[in-house]
Amino acid sequence: MRLADTFPKIEVAGIREFTIDEIGDEHLYTSLETPMRPDAHLISDAEKKVKIAQHFKAIMETLGLDLTDDSLKGTPDRVAKMYVEEIFSGLNPKNKPHMALFDNKYKYQEMLVEKNISFYSNCEHHFVPIIGKAHVAYISNGKVIGLSKLNRIVQYFAKRPQVQERMTVQIAHELKEALGTQDIAVIIEAKHLCVSSRGVQDDTSTTVTSYYDGAFKNADKMNELHNYIFKNSTPC
Ligand SMILES: [Zn+2]
Repeated sequence: MRLADTFPKIEVAGIREFTIDEIGDEHLYTSLETPMRPDAHLISDAEKKVKIAQHFKAIMETLGLDLTDDSLKGTPDRVAKMYVEEIFSGLNPKNKPHMALFDNKYKYQEMLVEKNISFYSNCEHHFVPIIGKAHVAYISNGKVIGLSKLNRIVQYFAKRPQVQERMTVQIAHELKEALGTQDIAVIIEAKHLCVSSRGVQDDTSTTVTSYYDGAFKNADKMNELHNYIFKNSTPC
């Protein structure tokens, strides 16, 4: 019996039951919220780093690595620091960017598109990188947001174990709430290293996900957005 067969089956979107094994290799997901334990933030970052370093050391030792070697002995601490402070820092709400809004003094009525926001995330099924670009757009409902904040919102949700569809929706929901408008669009194109470096080992495919609401559901607005993103892309 395979290890995966001993796990319970999981219901996804009421379609049918999937095994844990299928969830991972098909990159299915079960909720729009990142699944977090109720006690997720009860211990400090320093305590998390100590625990992660201990567990990662055990993984390395189980793999047979000699942690007395000078090159390897610092790795558990480095990985723990990287997980907590960098690549998974978006799990902690204290790292959420502050959303300062400004009045739309210029009465700018058209869409604002921030395109080609590069990000690094990690697949929650395999813990290997997702590398991509996000394009976000909104139409002001009286308030505007600093441009760099749009990048920071993308980075915040990228710095979690992720599924691309969920990340797309999480960014869109956050922008809607912050800007007080339904007129939001998010498009993400990304390369999943769990597809290219292992598994099916396809090095050329990318995954595209999108979210359109409010005015962006209108075909003309959608076309205009696509023109800004996918055409006229002469670099500044
Ligand atoms: Zn994966």
